[in-house]
Amino acid sequence: MTTPANKARLILSLRSAGITNTAVLSAIERVPRELFVPETFRDQAYENTALPIGYGQTLSQPLVVAAMVEALDLGNRMKLLEVGTGSGYHAAILAQLCRRVYTIERHRPLLADAERKFAELDLHNITTRAGDGMVGWPEQAPFDRISVTAASDAPPAALLDQLAVGGIMVMPVGGRDRTQVLQKFRRTDDGYDTEDLMEVRFVPLLPGLVENKSA
Ligand code: SAH
Repeated sequence: MTTPANKARLILSLRSAGITNTAVLSAIERVPRELFVPETFRDQAYENTALPIGYGQTLSQPLVVAAMVEALDLGNRMKLLEVGTGSGYHAAILAQLCRRVYTIERHRPLLADAERKFAELDLHNITTRAGDGMVGWPEQAPFDRISVTAASDAPPAALLDQLAVGGIMVMPVGGRDRTQVLQKFRRTDDGYDTEDLMEVRFVPLLPGLVENKSA
């Protein structure tokens, strides 16, 4: 069973791993991770491990979610784009810390599950779309922040284009069988500054929409 004790232990381990932003830590404390994982893994919801969410996808390890959210340096007036809704857990954390989250997922059934969780938690500042997030969400651009939770060899041009000047994008960069690096891109007046944050392992960013369970 999930108890407040193992949640407290997770927060302590995030702190000792270097997560210092108290707003990020309290967002992680508020969002029930057990709601976003399959029932068989609920007893591990507050372990610092990645968990399967179906369709060959995974919910990242809490430390990686925390590091990504912290690197975004969010403010409560910001508009954010997330690519790769997955279980919806990461989006639920982001929604605590900014004005509006636009999130795109290519597996329609996964997105439907995530939408039910957002409704259950009364998270009304999340807008969802089923589709290919590599093209971004042009109608809502520019975004103050972009969070990509699937890896690719290079950041998609459309996403960099849809970042506001001064805006930050965090994304795992690297191939399927190679080490991936979590990178932070900051848009400047005439280009982008890039910073490497940590080594990570994410599922690949893939094109196209997947309509059903068999695909
Ligand atoms: N943020 C998620 C973790 C998602 S795993 C969570 O909190 O659970 C990565 C997700 O990205 C998968 O669900 C995968 O289907 C999705 N994905 C991969 N390529 C995509 C694309 N081009 N557009 C949208 N979603 C994509």
